[in-house]
Amino acid sequence: MKKIILILCCILCCCACSNGNQAKEEKSSDFKSVAKKEVGNTEIPKGVEIVTDAAKFIAVKEDQEYQEQTDANNHVQEGAVNADIVGDTLYCIHDNRIFVKKQNENTATILCSKPDCLHNEASCTAYIEGAHNAGLDYYDGALYYVDDFDQEDSIELRFMKSSSDGSVRDQVCILGTIMGLDKEHTCGSVSWILHRGYLYYIYELGNGVTEDTYYNNGSNCIWRRSLDDPEEAECIMPLTFGTNKGLVKFVADGSYLYFTQPEVRVQGRESMLYRYNTESDQVEELMNLGMLSDYAIVNHEIYYKTLEEPEKVYRGDGTSKEPEILFSADQSIGILYNDILADEKGIVLTYDIPEESGVRTIRCEYDFSGNKIGEIERPEDMICYGFDDRYFYYDMDPTQKEQLYCVNRP
Ligand SMILES: [Zn+2]
Repeated sequence: MKKIILILCCILCCCACSNGNQAKEEKSSDFKSVAKKEVGNTEIPKGVEIVTDAAKFIAVKEDQEYQEQTDANNHVQEGAVNADIVGDTLYCIHDNRIFVKKQNENTATILCSKPDCLHNEASCTAYIEGAHNAGLDYYDGALYYVDDFDQEDSIELRFMKSSSDGSVRDQVCILGTIMGLDKEHTCGSVSWILHRGYLYYIYELGNGVTEDTYYNNGSNCIWRRSLDDPEEAECIMPLTFGTNKGLVKFVADGSYLYFTQPEVRVQGRESMLYRYNTESDQVEELMNLGMLSDYAIVNHEIYYKTLEEPEKVYRGDGTSKEPEILFSADQSIGILYNDILADEKGIVLTYDIPEESGVRTIRCEYDFSGNKIGEIERPEDMICYGFDDRYFYYDMDPTQKEQLYCVNRP
């Protein structure tokens, strides 16, 4: 029976979308996926102008200093890990519930003040109903997250806002409605970031997408919505067909949103780095980062590593100068991870060290000349939420009366 409903659903959606004008007039927030559509080509949403000549980039004029309340925290991949750090406070999602933890407190507090609440239904301000898998962001006094809300024949990607004390919770907008796919094989995953008044995001429909369905429902495009008018979405850039959305890493810095577009080429996968200039409303093509493993941005400088030479740390700015090898890390310590973390204090690389008792993981911090400043152990089997200038923060069970797993930086 469920199959019949699904098929009916697909047919209805196909009919709706084959009527081109009607589809075009639809607001992006009303988009529905028809991912099993079998005929016709999907129209690719139009992005903003892409400037490839660095001489034609328009210089930014606004304040580029980091604003804690409204700038994306580059120490935490907010739309990817279920935590955010603001000052001395960590917000995190554990077991579909939001917790808050102050640095000087031993335990975390659930974001619900209702007496006798079991924290397992919609009326609980800490409880997230849907299959939550896509990050948490503190922005200007509130917390934001995406609730993958599962309905009978569809999944709604609901963008949600909660006051930081949990007293008020609202749906900001629906990013997309995923229909017609076998939901068991659909993740509907979304990556997003909040920065200076805007939500930037991209999502894919999950497994089973084909050339005909790749851009359906606005999937596989980078969008933004103003937090003042979240019903309207503007397309920044559609990705090249077949791009793995999971490799499009957003980093915001001042007036720019950086992102990578990994493309499969004959020799492997290469990533082009772009940045959206929020002042000129143009996408600037910065540089080919080759077989990129990871990158970080500090004060508009790009720090990155490649899969081919994991020990080499490169630096460039994508405009005036050629990328240079900043330093080569010591490979005799162990096996280097792909990730690179960087901020004004230094660059952190992660190693696996095989030992008789098993593999030990350490993080080594380097200065910008490649001198090792120190190293710290990484707690076993824990997800790193992020770091700040003092600590690395790791996944925790807030119901345990233990110190939050934070490890001092060297
Ligand atoms: Zn509750």
